[in-house]
This record gives sequence, structure tokens and C-alpha cells, in this order.
Amino acid sequence: MSLHPESSGYIKRIDILEKISKEHFDVFIIGGGITGAGIALDATLRGLKVCLVEKRDFASGTSSKSTKLIHGGLRYLKNLEFGLVRNIGCERAINHNMAPLLVYPQKMLLPLRKDGSLSPFTAGLAIKIYDWLARVPKKDRLRMLDKEETLRILPILKPINLRGSALYTEYQTDDARLVVEIIKKASELGAVCLNYAEAENPIFQNNKGNHKVSGYNIKCKLTGKNIQVYGHCIVSAAGPWTDSIRLKHGANDSMLVLSRGIHIVVPAERFPLNTPVYMDVLKDPGRMIFCIPRRRHIYIGTTDIYFRGPLDEPDIPLEEIDYLIEAIHDQFNLPCNLTRQDVVAQWSGLRPLIKNPGKKSTEISRKDEIKILKDGLILIAGGKLTGWRLMAKKIVNLCAQIVSKKTGQKFSMCQTEQIKLNNFVLSSYNSKDDIVDVVKDYAKQLPIQPYAAEDLVMNFGLTALQILDYAYNIYNINRNHPHPLLEAEVKYAIENEWACYPEDYFERRTSKTYFNTNDLSKE
Ligand code: FAD
Repeated sequence: MSLHPESSGYIKRIDILEKISKEHFDVFIIGGGITGAGIALDATLRGLKVCLVEKRDFASGTSSKSTKLIHGGLRYLKNLEFGLVRNIGCERAINHNMAPLLVYPQKMLLPLRKDGSLSPFTAGLAIKIYDWLARVPKKDRLRMLDKEETLRILPILKPINLRGSALYTEYQTDDARLVVEIIKKASELGAVCLNYAEAENPIFQNNKGNHKVSGYNIKCKLTGKNIQVYGHCIVSAAGPWTDSIRLKHGANDSMLVLSRGIHIVVPAERFPLNTPVYMDVLKDPGRMIFCIPRRRHIYIGTTDIYFRGPLDEPDIPLEEIDYLIEAIHDQFNLPCNLTRQDVVAQWSGLRPLIKNPGKKSTEISRKDEIKILKDGLILIAGGKLTGWRLMAKKIVNLCAQIVSKKTGQKFSMCQTEQIKLNNFVLSSYNSKDDIVDVVKDYAKQLPIQPYAAEDLVMNFGLTALQILDYAYNIYNINRNHPHPLLEAEVKYAIENEWACYPEDYFERRTSKTYFNTNDLSKE
């Protein structure tokens, strides 16, 4: 697929391609997932000149296929990774301050059972250590509940073997939206970020007999144009594709192993869960999964299986769907039997894990790793969505040093801790509910579903009001228009958020593919 040569999108894109092929950037980034997006933002904030390319849509790799938690990584305590827990735990608060409407606390219930992997003592101790390491604020700290309290909160839990539960705090987010907002911020500040632009082949420069990477040949998938982009630092943030980038630089071993994790989505009527749960998979001792209510659905995941297939669309084996459904039946009394037919949506993602021979995928650390190849390519892989800011900081410290050495320029320290993602802050409102009330009130005259205003705020934050203006313009021209809000959202996503194809809007700007499945058929 490509853009029509006479369309405004094509003309705009040709213009951008021409401009960037004439520039010399400080940092050129391959990959528009959370890692690349974070590096683009951090580097731009420090005054570096940045270009980022993404071969498909932003966040179309692992960064839209996660469990959507900005979490302290309670499970990493099992592997005694205290440093990792502390670092990424503190990141939750920073991410929340950055975008309180996009990263928000949610109480999570951890059922404790006689046949489960954690006793009340070990769970209580682990979460207390976690609260302490991650400097969790008092209101969010652990509460241990007895069996009766647990069943009062979650009456569908099976009482047999239940001892009680631990109630602690996780932070929920929308992973793809987080990436898009970070990219938007970086672009506002001057970074050039292009989706549907693939870094095909490195360009090398011979520097006193040394072969150094100085740029990349880029193919724009929308216009078919090829350009060359040059930079002082070339950074690969290609997640699961890291080894294919290394191959272009002559490395033929692998730095990563990939582990597939799937999630399934079922309607809340079929699984009436009123609070997020993190629970044992009773038939697979030691493994735990999340069940999380979102909008009018529950999503359940994840699995953790070594993966060797094609990377672009990892499959979703039926056995893994059955594994998740069985885990639910083992812990809950449901009104009706849950089956594969109840699964209305699903996604599959690949964890880029740093190779550690002899270990099971569940045992491999989620730490990130930076490597600098002989030709100067800087690689970063591994890590977590939650740790994006810290990963970016390390890479940009390195890039700033390199560029300073080459050009004599000075750059400021990392500033991402202070940044706000403006569309997702509270602004002059007291809470998200206040914003939803205002949006609901403003949307009253439009033919929309009762929950559409809240979904609009979830998806677009404070921009909801601007999108409603668009919707009214459309509706005022044609009172018989069946979906003025949908058209307004799509127009906004195309004009302001680089959406090029329907799936960019449905999957990564609004996650309607996963959580508005009833609406999709009507739309
Ligand atoms: P990606 O998001 O995959 O981005 C890499 C990008 O590079 C891709 O978009 C790709 O298209 C692009 N690319 C590759 N080659 C090229 C090229 N030649 N030219 C241009 N672009 C290219 N972490 C958490 O903190 N919380 C969670 O709840 C959580 N849950 C998870 C659940 C699952 C099932 C999985 C798999 C992971 C989960 N993670 C979670 C981990 C987290 O999602 C990943 O660590 C993170 O998204 C990786 O981001 P990335 O930017 O490194 O990779």
C-alpha cells in the first residue's frame, strides 16, 4: 500500500524526506517502540538534533502488546533482582506525575491459596520489601485481607483452599498511547519522527582505516522513496529485531532470545471481575497471570514461551488460549463456562530478552543491555516498558558524550523526570471524573454511545474537547451523519498523530480493536 502521489499526505511526506536527507543529525534512532521514543524525547530535551524512523507504525512491535502495566516488578523479587525492582518501582511515580490520566494507580488483588505458590507470610514480606524498595506512598501500600474480606471484594473467587489475599497497587497504562504521546512531545520539541520508514542498510565511512557507521539508507513505505540519513550517533532500539540489525553490521550470532506472551480479551458479562487480579496458574506451579478489567472487557495474560517464528505477526496458539481460560476456571466460579468462543480479541507480543543460555524464559532477567559494535552502532535491547526513561537516559548520556567530543557542543543533563505529557495531565481539573463530566456535558447533542465520552478521554486525554469541536462541525454539516465522533477522531489521528492505515487508529490510537469490540461491527 502507498499514498496517492497527489494526496496532501504524500506531498507533506516528500517534503519531510527531502529535508531530513539534507540534514546531519546528532542522534539517528532505529525503532519507534517505547525505547526509541524515550531516547528521542530525552535527546531532544537536551538539545541534540534527533531523527527517528519506524518501519511500520509507532508502537506496532512489542510496545503495544504488553500487559499495559507500569509496574514495580513484584515478580522480580523472586529472582532477587532488588536493584531492578527499586529502579523500575520508582519510575511508576515519575510516569504517573508525567501523565496522570495515562498512568494511574489500580488496586490489585493477589489471592493466597493453600495450593498456590505464595503463603500469606511470603507474599506479605515480598510486597513489604517491594513497597519499601519502590518507595510506594502510604496510601498505595500493601493490605493483607482475610478470606472473608477477600470474598467480599471478589465473590466469584473459589473459596476452597483460599486463605486470604494481598491487596497492593499497580499502575495501569495504554502502552501504544504512551509511545505516541512521547513521540508527539519529542516532535513538538524538534525531533523528526517518521513511521513507515525502514532503516534498510547501514552507510559506512572509512575513518583512518576504520569502518564506521555514519548513516542509513531509508525506504519510505508510503511513497516508495529511498533516502540517506546521517548522524553522529546511530542507535538501534529495534526490540525483537535487534539481531536482524546486528546482522546488517556483520554480527552473525544472536544477542537475544525471544519469548512470546499472549493476552486474550473477554466481555465483562462473561467474566464479571470487578477488580484487577494477579494470580497463580494452579496447573503450572510458579507461574502467575493478570486478569484486568478495562472498559467493558477483561483482559487476561500472559504466557511466556520461547519463540522462533517470523517476528512481524507472532502467532497465538490455541493451546495458549486454553491455558489462560483453564487458569481462570481453576480460580473462579463463573456464571457460565468460558470458552474460546468468548474471546473477542487477542494479542501476541515478543519479549526481547538478553540471551542467558541454560535458563528458562521465565528465569531470564528483564534487564536492558547496551552494546557498542566495532563500527560504532549503539544497540539497546531488553528492559521493560516501565523502565523506558532510565534506558533512554543511559543511551543519551552516551550520545551526548560522543557528540560533544566530535563537535565541542555541550548538552544539558537528563530532563525527562520533569516533563509533562500535556494531553494527559489534569490541568485545571481535580480528577479524571471531572474531565469526563465536562466532556459528557459538551458531547450531549451528538449521536454517540453513553460510554463514548469516557472512552474519548481515556484515548485522547484533554484533546477530547478539540475532537468534539471537530465532531460538531461534521454533525452540523450533516445531521444524518451516523458517526460524527468516529470521523472526528480519525481526522485528528491522521492530522496530528501519524495514523496512516485503519489499524493505526483502531489498534494503537484508540485500542478499539481490543476493548470496543461491540462498536467495531457498527462502525
Ligand atoms: P518494540 O516495541 O518492539 O519496538 C521496536 C521497534 O523497532 C518496532 O516497532 C519495529 O517495527 C522497529 N524496527 C525494527 N527494525 C526496524 C528497522 N530496520 N527500521 C525501522 N524500524 C525498525 N513491560 C512493562 O513494563 N509492563 C508490562 O506490563 C509488560 N508486559 C509485557 C507483556 C508481554 C506479553 C511482553 C511481550 C512484554 C511486556 N513488557 C512489559 C515488556 C515491554 O513491553 C517491552 O520491554 C517493550 O515494549 C520493548 O520496547 P522496544 O521499544 O524495545 O521494542
